[in-house]
Amino acid sequence: MILIHGAKVLRPTTFAAEALDVIVEGDTIKDLVAPGSVKGDGMERVDATGRALMPGLVNGHNHATANLAKGLFDRYNLELYLTAVPWSTGRRTLEDKALSATLGAAEMARKGCIAAYDMFAEFPLPTVEGMAAVADAYAKVGLRATIAPQIADKSFWEAIPGLADALPEPLRSEALKAGSAPHEQSIEACRKILAAWKHDRSRIKPALGPSIPHHCSDEFLRECRDLAREHGLGMQMHVAESKLQSVIGPKVYGHSLVAHLAELDLLSPGFCVAHGVWLSDDDRKRLADAGASVSHNPGSNLKLGSGIADMRRMLAAGINVAVGTDGTASSDNLNAFEAMRLACYLSRVKDHPVGEWISARDALYAATEGGAKALGFERIGRIEKGWKADLVFLDLSALHYVPLNDLAHQIVFGEDGTGVEHVMAGGRFIVRERKVLGVDVSKLMREAEEARARLTAANAEAKAFAGKLLPYVGRFCTGIH
Ligand SMILES: [Zn+2]
Repeated sequence: MILIHGAKVLRPTTFAAEALDVIVEGDTIKDLVAPGSVKGDGMERVDATGRALMPGLVNGHNHATANLAKGLFDRYNLELYLTAVPWSTGRRTLEDKALSATLGAAEMARKGCIAAYDMFAEFPLPTVEGMAAVADAYAKVGLRATIAPQIADKSFWEAIPGLADALPEPLRSEALKAGSAPHEQSIEACRKILAAWKHDRSRIKPALGPSIPHHCSDEFLRECRDLAREHGLGMQMHVAESKLQSVIGPKVYGHSLVAHLAELDLLSPGFCVAHGVWLSDDDRKRLADAGASVSHNPGSNLKLGSGIADMRRMLAAGINVAVGTDGTASSDNLNAFEAMRLACYLSRVKDHPVGEWISARDALYAATEGGAKALGFERIGRIEKGWKADLVFLDLSALHYVPLNDLAHQIVFGEDGTGVEHVMAGGRFIVRERKVLGVDVSKLMREAEEARARLTAANAEAKAFAGKLLPYVGRFCTGIH
């Protein structure tokens, strides 16, 4: 047992700070007691004087693939980025996939995350080895994760009506060569992944990640739905992320993407929308009625110019909302503190009266309990008796806490990750004195630099090809109404 004493503890619901000692047994919070009331004989004592304890953060949307692609892009919208995916995340060896996932998990841990929803993409098909490498990376760092192989049976060029035809030859034929795998193969690959899964699902679990509705045939989506039901899996999809996507729905299906997913009976409490920038009231009602979640990823939505998702209207409709960073190719750090802050600030430039703005407490809930619910984990996200011991120790001598007026406000509006001193996940320290314990970061740095140089060379030709496509994609996608 561990006795953590001397801390100010961020309480659930009120998010008020209270001086309490925390007793941890195994992976669970056994009790919260008045300071000094338990001596802790025979227990490991952790002195947390001058520290605040908050529940570990949950990142609602991320891509393990993207961590070697950070910093590559500026002034790319989503469609331009999708054009660049083959070179920015291409030619990865199994070791590269493991390295990319480990880098991301280590960065998240260092910045106070204890869990992430990860849509991990492999082209043309997900593999048992690739998924195992990502799951092992999360396990090594000590995070919880819900990992969804990102799958589709239509390429970007096939998914957007008229896009391929907007390309001159030979670009058109060349672009169409990189087709997605037939859906039977993707489903078969997912079945193999599920059969081979060796991690404890209370910590690291598989899910399904049909990439984007119109990138998937109806038949494929029905198969994903049935596979998810058969195995009790969650599902995450990018839905209504860019304006183009919202325009595509009525063009392809005659109604919105969410209405289409509802028609296919995909929406359920295990369903999580990534982004949801362009949802209508009707879409929000459908998601709420199904008990679904949305991961609100404000940093990525801003960087890609996708728009501002309306978190307040999601909450008002009754949707469970998480906050996420998205992958580092589209928002270049994995800082859930920043995602919380942006969620608050962006709600203030929508059409809401001041009293409806997303508060620090709304954001804290979304980044903890709301996130855990979206990932399908229970009893995670509160510092409460019987809940998992997933704790972030904040150093109150970090100057953004001096003086300490309101801990919740100062975390959401002031914390940038530099105040994170230790992180405990499931009763075990995964970050101590600002060091990620499960990995050798200097070794990761060397490996990342080697991979960067090798992959830059290996993808040079694909990059040059994408460069030729960009002007056509840019013109076509901004012209579509
Ligand atoms: Zn994404």
